[in-house]
Amino acid sequence: MARLIHRYDAQVIVIGGGVIGSACAFRLAQAGRDVLLLQFGTPERAASFGNAGHIATEQLFPLASAEVIRSSWRYLLDTDSPLRLRPAYLLALLPWLARFVWAARGKSFKRGVAGLLALQQSALVDMVDLLADADLAHLLHQRGHLEVWETPAGEAAVLAQAQRLGAYGIKTAPWALADLRSQLPELGQSVQGALHYPGSGHVEDPWAVCSGLHLALQHSGGRIRQGRALQLHADKGYANVLLEDGSRLQAQQLLVCAGAWSRPLAASLGYRVPLEVERGYHITVGKQADGVMPPRLPLPVASNERKVIMSSMSMGLRMTGTVELGGLHLPADPRRLDLLQRQLQAMLPGIDSRQASNWMGFRPSLPDHLPVLGAATRHANVFFAFGHQHLGLTLAAVTARAMAQLMHSGHSPIDLSPYSVSRFGG
Ligand SMILES: Cc1cc2nc3c(=O)[nH]c(=O)nc-3n(C[C@H](O)[C@H](O)[C@H](O)COP(=O)(O)OP(=O)(O)OC[C@H]3O[C@@H](n4cnc5c(N)ncnc54)[C@H](O)[C@@H]3O)c2cc1C
Repeated sequence: MARLIHRYDAQVIVIGGGVIGSACAFRLAQAGRDVLLLQFGTPERAASFGNAGHIATEQLFPLASAEVIRSSWRYLLDTDSPLRLRPAYLLALLPWLARFVWAARGKSFKRGVAGLLALQQSALVDMVDLLADADLAHLLHQRGHLEVWETPAGEAAVLAQAQRLGAYGIKTAPWALADLRSQLPELGQSVQGALHYPGSGHVEDPWAVCSGLHLALQHSGGRIRQGRALQLHADKGYANVLLEDGSRLQAQQLLVCAGAWSRPLAASLGYRVPLEVERGYHITVGKQADGVMPPRLPLPVASNERKVIMSSMSMGLRMTGTVELGGLHLPADPRRLDLLQRQLQAMLPGIDSRQASNWMGFRPSLPDHLPVLGAATRHANVFFAFGHQHLGLTLAAVTARAMAQLMHSGHSPIDLSPYSVSRFGG
């Protein structure tokens, strides 16, 4: 019987050069694999380009919760609310919304918390290791962040949340108002208090993390190719990718890390994954009109009342926020950016943000707020790592360690069953 000889373009093809794909590709190359990273589009297209840079180790609660469901109905269609549904997208979103409501039930919510906790436990340590190995340690700061409040109700909410998180080992410490005024004198006088989360971190330029990982990948022998994957095929011993230009790339293993665009790639192999996008916006104030850079905050400042976080980065001061359910194709809503401008003026009165740059990005989100991680259940040589919602930067390094070991040795150091693609039955 004639033996089929496969010619491979690489041992492993990783699809998607955002923070998840870049971290996985680097870890695989470090493990000695011949890796090709297939990347499509400009940096700005990736959620990894414009995020808040927050290593949010304190975020353990999935968005799908009874609390969010209770409060969301009243402001989903309000143009000024932090959570918004674009009416033109409502019909397309209904199946995802139904699953989201289902995931908010007590038992599923608890499963979601356990799933996030298992990844968060080593997220920061993994990030420290990853950035050190890629020679990018200088990008990470570990001073924690502040949650501020402006009203007694805001204070009560911040303290209640801290108490809930404390039950899972998340540490917080009060910051005296006098310290807040002296260390962050630019903050508006409406801010009445703050709680410090010492265990979180932040990076000073999220895209510098990705581009640095690309370089580190190349130094470890990996390659990067521009191209858009359209379809995947897999059989015993090989897997291939059909590209938009009609060419095919063949590998022993494929890893799909295409963020918000992963759904059609998984579907081309028969996996029906209810992946949606939570659109988010940022404004970044670089040089102000007088040529002076905006004030530097010693650590990131988040407001639960305003649902925003602001952070000093190497390119200026960035405020991010808002969740907009509106799919991949509707244009950005300028009212969301106006809202961020108003929030910024309220929190840092007088900052000159007229020349701020604007951006909108796509958080890849499954209804239960857990990513899809692990092997494709019906194709031994295809793997998935996508759907990291609000936590892709935070969880990139732990994801990369788990996926690289799984793909290299067949065993993940973390139990990946809670994140299996099979949980959606597709
Ligand atoms: C406003 C905002 C603030 C955020 N803040 C934080 C934060 O502070 N901390 C945190 O942890 N997370 C944060 N996030 C979430 C985080 O940015 C995402 O979870 C993360 O960037 C997802 O990374 P990714 O690599 O999966 O996807 P992406 O970064 O979107 O990268 C996917 C890449 O794949 C490419 N691609 C897509 N389709 C194809 C194809 N067919 N072929 C080839 N390439 C393809 C895309 O062009 C893109 O470059 C934030 C997100 C937003 C929007």
